[in-house]
Amino acid sequence: MGKKQFKAESKRLLDLMINSIYTNKEIFLREILSNASDAIDKLCYLSLTDDKVGLNRDDFKIEILVDKEARTITVRDNGIGMTLEEAENNLGVIAKSGSYKFKDEMDSDKAEDISIIGQFGVGFYSAFMVSDEVTVLSRKYGEEQGVKWESKGADGYTVTPIEKETVGTDVIMHIKADSEEEVYGSYLEVWKIKALVKKYSDYVRWPIKMDVEHQERYETGEKNDDGSPKYAYRMVTENETLNSMVPIWQRSKNDVTDDDCIAWYKEKNRDRKDPCALVRVSAEGQVSYKAMLFVPGEQNENVFTGDNKGGITLYSNGVMIMEKCDKLVHDYFEFVKGVVDSPDLSLNISRELLQHDRQLRIIGQNLEKRIKSELEKLMRDDKPKYEEFFRNFGNDLKVGVCDEYGRYKDFLRDLLLFYTSEEHMTTLKEYVENMPESQKVIYFATSSSVKQAMNLPQCQEVRDRGYEIIYLTSPLDEMVLDALREQDGKSFCNVVTDDLGFETDEEKKAAEERDIENKELLDFVKESVGEGLSKVKLSRKLTTQPCCLTTEGGLTLEMERYFRHGPSEEMRKLRATRVLELNAEHKSFKALQDAFANDKEKAARLSRVLYALAELSAGVDVEDPIQFVGDVSEMI
Ligand code: ADP
Repeated sequence: MGKKQFKAESKRLLDLMINSIYTNKEIFLREILSNASDAIDKLCYLSLTDDKVGLNRDDFKIEILVDKEARTITVRDNGIGMTLEEAENNLGVIAKSGSYKFKDEMDSDKAEDISIIGQFGVGFYSAFMVSDEVTVLSRKYGEEQGVKWESKGADGYTVTPIEKETVGTDVIMHIKADSEEEVYGSYLEVWKIKALVKKYSDYVRWPIKMDVEHQERYETGEKNDDGSPKYAYRMVTENETLNSMVPIWQRSKNDVTDDDCIAWYKEKNRDRKDPCALVRVSAEGQVSYKAMLFVPGEQNENVFTGDNKGGITLYSNGVMIMEKCDKLVHDYFEFVKGVVDSPDLSLNISRELLQHDRQLRIIGQNLEKRIKSELEKLMRDDKPKYEEFFRNFGNDLKVGVCDEYGRYKDFLRDLLLFYTSEEHMTTLKEYVENMPESQKVIYFATSSSVKQAMNLPQCQEVRDRGYEIIYLTSPLDEMVLDALREQDGKSFCNVVTDDLGFETDEEKKAAEERDIENKELLDFVKESVGEGLSKVKLSRKLTTQPCCLTTEGGLTLEMERYFRHGPSEEMRKLRATRVLELNAEHKSFKALQDAFANDKEKAARLSRVLYALAELSAGVDVEDPIQFVGDVSEMI
């Protein structure tokens, strides 16, 4: 029979695939094994109603045969098989395979984009990524005659009728010669095949069998001098089943305990610590899927690669289709590890298409709800454990709150914890519930640590009134409050910058008058300190401390510190608008007034020292340490 040409569109795709620098060639085996498994499914299904099939469930299997000398890998199944017409129609036209559907969905100019094509599972054709010749021998169930389909790639194929003894299909792949870029020969190695089956096809429902050679110790029959039996080694071949078939998440909750799942997780992820939460889902309906997800007990960051990402592995009926699917749940849950298996997912799914996959979106949304409720349960039942979780992964949640202009803030807000002392963390909801009647707003203070924030002089007055303060330790925390806007109708108040709302109108008026009275002195202080300081005023918040540093406008001292290590020069130069507040009731202010009246030089020195003290208590570096040391030694 003469050589036939592939249909035009198949040829183009095939060309692209064979010649593209495809990074993931190894998936060819998964594709061929999946086809074999599907073919067995079909015959097994037939056998339920047709006893002439003559095979029991246990008889079905897929075999992998390797001939290193001939450089061939054969995948043999005893499934439904193909007729000559089917072989021609199914294998000769790429339109039958999922790849075509994908190509159809892309605009024509993009169809040339090899990198995108390279990310697809491409079914039977993927055999050509590693083979220079593929032969398919097949006989359909119920047919006398078999078929041989042969192709060397893009230039066409032949089909011939043949005699074939058994029903089913052999796909014989002749592996390409090694090149500089790729050692194709490694696919002929037993260890490699075993690894590929484990990685991609471990949960194929039918046994995948292969002859594996290994050393065996045996008694020779002779005796050693001491009378003990002599041993020697010989090579034996064993027909091994390479896949474990039934995945743990496919088994019912009655068969598999949570502890079993945890043990599986720890082994799979080489994690010594128990996960802090487990989510098991078996959903039927709109979309059917099974999922088994874990929130790790610690951040097991890889110290070398910095890779601490969790990741969910996607399976379709036990066949792995994506090792780390980062589009299933949002980044704020990216620490979650586990598996999702849905027969509704197509094998030929790409990262680009995943985003638009409706099924996957529904699964993702459901899983997010489940993860959230599991975390809420943990918070209710075991607060210390939840706090540990939050110390590990809270940052992901916080970033999530700020992400996309706060789109997810209400979904996440109840999962957030904030420090109200070095030991105690609270949710905003709890905070509001505990607020005394007289308290109108939620107070917060920021510094580089909880301790530093607690020591901010402005906090004292708030605490004196019996109000709790939330202590923030990063600019991200401030951004989170910014994004959240309010909690149960209560707004946030920064004890350092905002009006604390404690003053009566009379007190306010009196304070303003005091500022006017002391204007000359306050201007002098500002002058003496110099450039970095924008304003000096008399404090209305300070009780025991002589002075403090506050800011005006959106940029706080914390943000300023954060930006100092920013990536751009412009960022590093950002400075908060600094305000020095002096405590008029403190004896230092008296001293300043006296000096201002009698000794201007001393007054200038005192001004600079007070400013430096304010900087220190705000937890920022003294802008001019040399000057500070000079001033203080002079005073001593
Ligand atoms: P897809 O599996 O996405 O349909 P493939 O290119 O992998 O695309 O396969 C094309 C078709 O060839 C399959 O749908 C099936 O009908 C047929 N086929 C492939 N391998 C086998 C096999 N081992 N036994 C029977 N039919 C097969």
